[in-house]
Amino acid sequence: MKITFFSTQPYDKEFFNRYNDSFGFNLEFFETSLTTQTVSLANGAQVVCVFVNDKVDAKVIEKLALEKVSIIALRCAGFNNVDLEAAKQFGIKVCRVPAYSPEAVAEHAVAMILTLNRKTHKAYNRVREQNFSLNGLLGFDLHGKTVGVIGTGNIGKAFCHIMLGFGCKVLAFDIIANKDLDAAGVKFLPLIDILQQADVLSLHCPLNNQTRHIISSETIPMLKKGVMLINTSRGGLIDTAAVIDALKKGLIGSLGIDVYEQEEKLFFRDLSASIIEDDTIQRLMSFPNVLVTAHQAFFTNEALTQIALTTLKNINELLKEGNLSVQAALLV
Ligand code: NAD
Repeated sequence: MKITFFSTQPYDKEFFNRYNDSFGFNLEFFETSLTTQTVSLANGAQVVCVFVNDKVDAKVIEKLALEKVSIIALRCAGFNNVDLEAAKQFGIKVCRVPAYSPEAVAEHAVAMILTLNRKTHKAYNRVREQNFSLNGLLGFDLHGKTVGVIGTGNIGKAFCHIMLGFGCKVLAFDIIANKDLDAAGVKFLPLIDILQQADVLSLHCPLNNQTRHIISSETIPMLKKGVMLINTSRGGLIDTAAVIDALKKGLIGSLGIDVYEQEEKLFFRDLSASIIEDDTIQRLMSFPNVLVTAHQAFFTNEALTQIALTTLKNINELLKEGNLSVQAALLV
């Protein structure tokens, strides 16, 4: 049974090959992303395995059905890039890895906060040039600050616990309040209160029609002046042009993003010798108070192990039983 992988990196091959022994699937890896032009690479495969920036729209799904692909296995948690209705229509099952290591992403969000606040990236370069001055490196105590969290699922929950450990006041908004977090000291409030009160605001909700541009020219005026904004979820949660405007005006004090609206043209590639045509990311990277990482929040040994094991297990269960033991992993 052949599985065709799209958008693969060397680490994907390493981890999937390592854990495939007990499954014995035939794994075929391609660096290219899945598009209408590349669908034919799935010829002879019953399963395609895709990642965050493969746009699996209705046209791609129709072509996958013609190739007799019966399963689309996402090796990630988010699924905003797949047209689930179309998959249903063509009888293709779609599965994902709902929680591989929420801590990996939550810890990366915290790394972004600490870097932006204490400017360790600048200090690292400074001391290497024998500049031991502290001017410009002034930060603030996180202890006692108000941290706003939007989305308290697996990742948001792990993030809340870390911030409680730092001694922060943690406020959260989710369409479903989490009783355990409430008991742990997280206060659930309406979105507008979170926006108004947070010193640090971290986004952990999925990208969908309700959350697209949750940070926009309409909501930015509600934010505390100088707020630190962190997005490790999906680029589309932020209206990037509005955020750039707010950074210029000092309304947003600092920004940490691991995801970007137009990331599929940039991230996961070495473009160091290329001319980047995207002026928006170039403008973002020119701010001294903006930190961009290239969708690396998930990138830990533990997470890659879980991603490989769960994806292979999902495929195995779907092929053998037509269903999954973990319901949250089955999308269609
Ligand atoms: P999850 O499904 O466990 O949690 C999402 C939470 O968001 C849920 O509690 C849900 O109720 C809430 N939510 C849904 N709609 C909302 C809304 N309109 N307003 C507020 N809350 C809302 O998902 P998760 O595993 O915690 O992942 C969250 C997101 O993180 C994923 O959707 C994905 O986009 C992103 N992610 C990023 C990386 C990375 O490497 N940067 C890795 C994994 C996941």
